Amino acid sequence: MGARGLLAEIFQDDDLLLLAKAVREFGERELVPYLRELGQEEFPDKFLPLAAGSGFLGTAIPGEFGGQGGTLEAFLPVIEGIAAYDGSLALTLAAHESLATTHVLLAGSCEQKRKCLPDLTAGRKIGAWCLTEPQAGSNIFNDMRAKLSRTSQGWILNGEKTFITNGCHADLYVVLARAIGQDGQDAGITGCLVERQGNQHGITPMPLHGKMGMWHSDTAAVRFDNVFITEDSILGAVGSAGQVTRRVLLRARIGVAALTLGLARDALERATSYTKTRNIGKATLFEQQLTRARLSGMEESLWAAWQAVRCAARLADQSKPFKVQACMAKVFATETALRIADEAIQLLGGYGYMRDYKVEQNYRDLRLLTIGEGASEILRLAIAGHLGEPGFGGEDLIPSLKSLESDAGLTCGSASSPWGPSHHALQLASDSFRIALEQIKKAEGCGDLSSGSQSSAIKVADLGTKLWVAGQVIRSGAQLVNRGTASGKILSLAKSFLMKASLEICHQAMELLRAHGLTDERLLSNYSAVLETTARNRSAESSLLLNGEGS
Ligand SMILES: Cc1cc2nc3c(=O)[nH]c(=O)nc-3n(C[C@H](O)[C@H](O)[C@H](O)COP(=O)(O)OP(=O)(O)OC[C@H]3O[C@@H](n4cnc5c(N)ncnc54)[C@H](O)[C@@H]3O)c2cc1C
Repeated sequence: MGARGLLAEIFQDDDLLLLAKAVREFGERELVPYLRELGQEEFPDKFLPLAAGSGFLGTAIPGEFGGQGGTLEAFLPVIEGIAAYDGSLALTLAAHESLATTHVLLAGSCEQKRKCLPDLTAGRKIGAWCLTEPQAGSNIFNDMRAKLSRTSQGWILNGEKTFITNGCHADLYVVLARAIGQDGQDAGITGCLVERQGNQHGITPMPLHGKMGMWHSDTAAVRFDNVFITEDSILGAVGSAGQVTRRVLLRARIGVAALTLGLARDALERATSYTKTRNIGKATLFEQQLTRARLSGMEESLWAAWQAVRCAARLADQSKPFKVQACMAKVFATETALRIADEAIQLLGGYGYMRDYKVEQNYRDLRLLTIGEGASEILRLAIAGHLGEPGFGGEDLIPSLKSLESDAGLTCGSASSPWGPSHHALQLASDSFRIALEQIKKAEGCGDLSSGSQSSAIKVADLGTKLWVAGQVIRSGAQLVNRGTASGKILSLAKSFLMKASLEICHQAMELLRAHGLTDERLLSNYSAVLETTARNRSAESSLLLNGEGS
């Protein structure tokens, strides 16, 4: 772990670091004792009011509706910090705030927002968001069976939703259903607000027990039988909810990515502490070279994933396109976090496998998040569908040296010394990616990879994602150097990530072509050049370290 602590390494910005530290204080003061009190599968009904009382509910909800008026980026340390204490608390928050509350904010009328949001942001009411159905999760937009049927007075809701977080405890449900006009015609996916109070007879929540993880969170199937929905409970225009729902999901994915990184950070911190107390002969486990390399690799990938998640959140906050980036950030962060938790268990050995050690819980909690809010496979197919489009062609996934300098406020030419070799390696990787993409598209005879072979699409999505994440790593590294806040440790992690990522991309691009029976001399030459740059850079770094300049 860096001398300044992981939180400080992750949240370099003063504001976000202050927020992260405040969440940690809240966690120590309120969450630790509360979690000790809770039974194994008991729902944490005091958690949302506690979070509201300390200012951690409604982070990205405008102040006029009772929120904190912050940004999606500011929500990241909140959900990350809460997840580090308990994944279920963070999941409860994600369903309540990122899904239900955000849907009302994005689709609701002024009156609906004024009526619902203050109670949700104060934790007086619990929200649940009902999209998934027993027969369809990923495919729900094509196979939604819950129905809102038009009547002369309003609408009647019928249908069953499943896997609904907060489903048994919610006071307010945001339900997505297919609207059917009085003429029997399908009017499209429509959102509606359903209050528990007054509708008890028509709403049947059925708890789903036996989850692998997230034990404190409430997961339920919820049946709606002939629930009367007034006109003013319809969210947005009839038939317009498909688009809003996708926007809600995109923002929520960024929050979930941060949630997983909180669980991973906690696992990494616990593994680090454990290795310092475990003796192997005369030295500790921490002092073994293998352990140090493993911990450093975990920290490196955690830091890289953060750069991706923060970039996606910033794009969303700036109202710039962020669809592909949100998917990339979610896939990369959730899978990185899962690997980190797995490695933490390995470092704890037999103890890591036992329930008394929280790394085991973190792993189980994390396992949900490559499935929920967009399964990794579906997100990869979505990413692949956009690769090759303007903005996602290869070279534009990574910043140019010139733009690195201008973004970081550096003078012309000043980025080439610290970042030149890594940037050169990345450019070669991006060239290999672009060539592979063109050749695969030609070989498969399709302009859009999502309509060709799924296995190629998934591999190409991974290459594009890795390249984009590396682009964020080099951008953040340059900015930190310019601000004078980059620790030697972070710089060396960033450079190591960039070299590894470049090599992997070059190698995997060749493998991808080979799988299609193709070869390209340019890919081989890029791979050799990156290998050479890596070797040269490694010896330069080692001589810096020998001269005491590397940390
Ligand atoms: C604990 C928990 C909490 C949840 N909370 C909520 C909630 O609050 N609200 C809500 O609405 N939902 C919620 N969900 C549902 C969750 O979002 C879905 O489980 C998820 O979207 C996946 O859907 P599914 O389970 O139906 O899997 P499926 O869609 O059936 O997918 C199964 C597998 O098939 C793969 N697959 C699917 N389609 C394709 C394809 N075309 N090509 C290749 N592979 C494919 C998927 O990637 C996945 O690996 C929750 C789920 C859980 C377990």
